[in-house]
Amino acid sequence: MIIRLDAHTHTVASDHAYSTALENCAAAAKAGMEAIGMTDHAPPLYGAPSKLHFANLNAVDREVLGVTMLRGAELNIMDANGSLFLKDEFLKDLDYCIASVHPLLYAPAGAGEGLWVYAGAMKNPRVKIIGHPEDARVPVDFDELARAASDTLTLIEVNNSSLRAGSYRMNTHANMAKMLRACERHGVFVSLGSDAHFATAVGRFGEALQLLSELDFPEELVASTSLDKFRALIGRKA
Ligand SMILES: [Zn+2]
Ligand SMILES: [Zn+2]
Repeated sequence: MIIRLDAHTHTVASDHAYSTALENCAAAAKAGMEAIGMTDHAPPLYGAPSKLHFANLNAVDREVLGVTMLRGAELNIMDANGSLFLKDEFLKDLDYCIASVHPLLYAPAGAGEGLWVYAGAMKNPRVKIIGHPEDARVPVDFDELARAASDTLTLIEVNNSSLRAGSYRMNTHANMAKMLRACERHGVFVSLGSDAHFATAVGRFGEALQLLSELDFPEELVASTSLDKFRALIGRKA
């Protein structure tokens, strides 16, 4: 399986990431990516750029070094209803949003609440991808998660950073295997994201590809093998 799109990357606009958009693009070109998503953290996460960062992304060229730049944001799920912090006016020109739980800001109390949280965020038409839901710090029943994703035409992320040695997320390998099995059962498409906070991680999916191969996960359900496929899949949800 060849991955051509990295849907989740961060730049220096997020204060705990260390490479520029241009450096990420150069790394993406080297890794053979057709496209990357610039999905910096949205406020109120610590060190996130201001709202204007997201409203002004049309300043970034659509294609840099042969790599298509998709405009995105990683939004924070803020409560048990899956509420997101950024208002629609700052998101309307983005290609897509990822919604994630960051326990620094909010963490659901248990698996029941975890499902509510994700299902609530998925109802937002701008949320095309749920970010790193395998993190055991945010407990959720993966079958229920996949069912909600199937109902709302939302993609589930396979986050390569979660699988890398030293990840602060918990129980990621075993949980991601369960999550992928559930996605397969419910016909849910997955999106690969490096979640790079430094350019050398952009477009690198060694750990994720190894897990997908171990599980013999069907390539048809991987959204990231071409930009056209990814666009068509996120376009289903309007
Ligand atoms: Zn995140
Ligand atoms: Zn991220």
